Amino acid sequence: MKGRNYIDGRWIEGAVFTTYSPSDLDEKVGEYPLAGQAAAEEALAAARRALPGWKRFNMQARSDILRRAGDALLARADEIGRLLAREEGKTLKEGIGETVRAAHVFHFYSGEVLRHPGQWFNSMRDGHNILVSYEPVGVVAAITPWNFPIAIPAWKTAAALAYGNTVVLKPSNNVPGCAVLLAEILAQAGIPEGVFNLVIGSGGTVGTALITGADAVTFTGGTETGRKVLQTAALSMTKVQLELGGKNPFIVLDDADLDLAVEAAAQGSWLQTGQRCTGSERIIVTERVHDAFVDRLVARVARFKVGHALDPDTEIGPVANQMQFDQNLEFVALAKLEGAELAFGGTPVEARTRGLYLAPTLLLNTRNDMAINRHESFGPIAGVIKVADLEEAIAVANDCDYALSSGIATTSLRSAEKFRRESGAGLVMINTPTAGLDYHVPFGGRPPSGYGGRETGAASAEFFTEIKTSYINHGVV
Ligand code: NAD
Repeated sequence: MKGRNYIDGRWIEGAVFTTYSPSDLDEKVGEYPLAGQAAAEEALAAARRALPGWKRFNMQARSDILRRAGDALLARADEIGRLLAREEGKTLKEGIGETVRAAHVFHFYSGEVLRHPGQWFNSMRDGHNILVSYEPVGVVAAITPWNFPIAIPAWKTAAALAYGNTVVLKPSNNVPGCAVLLAEILAQAGIPEGVFNLVIGSGGTVGTALITGADAVTFTGGTETGRKVLQTAALSMTKVQLELGGKNPFIVLDDADLDLAVEAAAQGSWLQTGQRCTGSERIIVTERVHDAFVDRLVARVARFKVGHALDPDTEIGPVANQMQFDQNLEFVALAKLEGAELAFGGTPVEARTRGLYLAPTLLLNTRNDMAINRHESFGPIAGVIKVADLEEAIAVANDCDYALSSGIATTSLRSAEKFRRESGAGLVMINTPTAGLDYHVPFGGRPPSGYGGRETGAASAEFFTEIKTSYINHGVV
């Protein structure tokens, strides 16, 4: 694939860096230009010029552009899903599924353009009414990570555009291919010049320039990067939305349906190679069911088929990049040093190609105060923590430096409801994996896993708009 930047309706060529498939390090996937500060500023200027026109753009026409983009994503789901699988390492099924999700998101926001409300109040002043309207926040910088290279750019871009903002998207340099195809799709769907711009570049240079020059920045990535984004944004008073890391707990109680609990833990911890911010990294199990649950979980993990992302029977693709792969192995070594017992995996896996394959890894006898249970691994690695009862399980689940997703397996409505109320996370999953979300409802974590308002669904309007309160003296009492 030949990647290009897209600024002010123009494609900008240049091949500076190359991506390789994590399934086969000898396979080149794409060549991309690396933009610098000047290109970022050019894109911001184009987005600012285009803003007044897009704000008053005909509602139906704006909705139609988003719908056409969704249609094109659906029509090209196999092609985009394949590129995603080759460049990021997700299985082909996961890559196509993510692209279909991106299409649905565009369709949802195509409807939101028409549904977006204002509020009309009676006033305490006779002869007056008050209109509360929601106006676009302005030029939005969208900065995205490598692990959902089409879904996250889609849900940030579609929402920002729907509410009348113009956009500069900076995807992760690790997996930029899908963002280039998204730009192509938006251009073909009729997006006016400058309304959507794509700049591929480094976080330090392009990211900083975008945060400083935009009116709002919607960022998804690691928690430490998020802190830097917040600091940069503070100086320019740029509005900030952050979706960050997780160390998500999944609780299994004595009364759980064990088949369901094992499957939910397995899917939550290891699908998509564990590279999901909502993945289950801490499995908290009450002591009476611990041994039976663990025996079944080990048997389930052993059945996962690790392999090339494009092989039809692969269930877990490779780790996305060398740095992540090395960190995962270091994480396992640290776990052993801390006294955890390796029940499965923890080693590279041989496959038909030279890729970054790691066995799904299960650690037993871990404690919540071990470093491996405090830091996000962002890999196919989960640790089991044994606890006495529900009270201790909730305390352990909440004793964490992240607050994104949390889950429980139980057949007791009372226990489920107690957990739902007492969990400190932004997402609570009952008898279902901690990962996996619907696009029509709010998504996100609480600090330090999230900051500045929720994404997806109509809730995203809160971030992508500014309130205007207008008092109108019409004189009629
Ligand atoms: P990252 O923080 O390294 O990078 C994310 C983006 O930020 C990239 O585009 C990068 O170029 C850019 N960036 C880096 N430094 C920057 C700076 N100083 N200023 C501005 N931008 C900068 O994250 P990653 O490794 O790409 O993604 C993995 C992380 O993302 C994990 O921690 C994961 O939990 C998190 N994540 C969170 C969610 C969520 O919704 N909560 C979803 C997916 C991933």
